[in-house]
Amino acid sequence: MSDCLFCKIANATIPAKIVYRDETVLAFEDINPQAPTHLLIIPREHIATLNNLTDDNQHLVGHMAATGAKLAKEKDHAEDGYRLVMNCNADAGQTVFHIHMHLLAGRQMDWPPG
Ligand code: AMP
Ligand code: ZN
Repeated sequence: MSDCLFCKIANATIPAKIVYRDETVLAFEDINPQAPTHLLIIPREHIATLNNLTDDNQHLVGHMAATGAKLAKEKDHAEDGYRLVMNCNADAGQTVFHIHMHLLAGRQMDWPPG
């Protein structure tokens, strides 16, 4: 989608500190980190919110989660722990409408989240 920030990162129109990429997803550093490790994992395909998942694209979310777990392990957070978060629409605080999974790690997390 031409006016989508994360599509622009996916097609390299806008720069980002990309840490992982494959045929269907990529991961990059969040511009406003909320933890010592704060990565965003996105599908290359534009999907606005979790409400737009279909039988054809839902496999991407599993791959995003597996990628987050792999990156957490690579960054040595697997044992201490980490959080994978997806926000959907206004009440959850979604601000970029191209689905993304936050990988947060490197500090104690609060529960319930604010
Ligand atoms: P959410 O509030 O769940 O929609 O998360 C959007 C995230 O995107 C926030 O954590 C922002 O800090 C992050 N973000 C916004 N613009 C950029 C950018 N250009 N590069 C990297 N991260 C960004
Ligand atoms: Zn997009």
